[in-house]
Amino acid sequence: MRYRVLGCFGGEAPRHHLSSFLLDETLLIDAGSVTGVLEIPEQAQIEAVLLTHTHLDHVRGLAHLADNVFGQRDRPIIVHSIEPVLEALKGSLLNNVLWPNFTEIPSSRMPILDFRPLPEGRPTPLCHFRVTPIRLSHSVISVGYFVEGDFGTLLHLGDTGPTEAVWKAAKDIANLRAVMIGTTFPNRLQRLADVSGHLTPQALKAELAKARVKATVYAYHLKPQYAAEIIDELKKDVPGCQILEQGKEYRFAPVA
Ligand SMILES: [Zn+2]
Ligand SMILES: [Zn+2]
Repeated sequence: MRYRVLGCFGGEAPRHHLSSFLLDETLLIDAGSVTGVLEIPEQAQIEAVLLTHTHLDHVRGLAHLADNVFGQRDRPIIVHSIEPVLEALKGSLLNNVLWPNFTEIPSSRMPILDFRPLPEGRPTPLCHFRVTPIRLSHSVISVGYFVEGDFGTLLHLGDTGPTEAVWKAAKDIANLRAVMIGTTFPNRLQRLADVSGHLTPQALKAELAKARVKATVYAYHLKPQYAAEIIDELKKDVPGCQILEQGKEYRFAPVA
């Protein structure tokens, strides 16, 4: 499985793109920077989008993606998340005020974007994966996804502060290969992280201890202005933790 990092920052600045990840060219996780990074023919190849939550840094590109692929595809792009996330997005973004409602354009029978809710805590086949959303703890409703394939399982977390359910679920997964997790603020801004539902390096250390995670951990969603400080602290607080690299394609080989 190829996991391409289009953007992995918790803020936007030159050379720092917002969260968006492309799996095997067809499944997109979050849409922050998708249209700023992928060429339009690549955008038109996306079959499905998994959204972690409604915050603009994770969904913004969906508006422009719909616009760009209009007339380029003969079927909708399927947009998945749990129901409250999709409903909030329809009401707040694709509401014919902030942006046109592309779930009814050109018709509700064959729209550009087709919103389909996923059941929480249960796997659903999607592209050539199986995907399970699990609720996290953020300032708005947010989920992480277990993505299973021939490579084993990858756990991609959306924005979260300290949380429980996902670590309970992770304990039961024998072939967990990687955990992607937001680490947004440095330790000195712990209070800000707590009130906004984010993690610092010291808080990440406590989270990983809950599940005794042995898979490779990749931190992302660093605020650009604190990135160097967060990376220094991660080296001390969470030895072995990798920093997800923007523009890089990670390959997960099939397990025997
Ligand atoms: Zn975010
Ligand atoms: Zn957020």
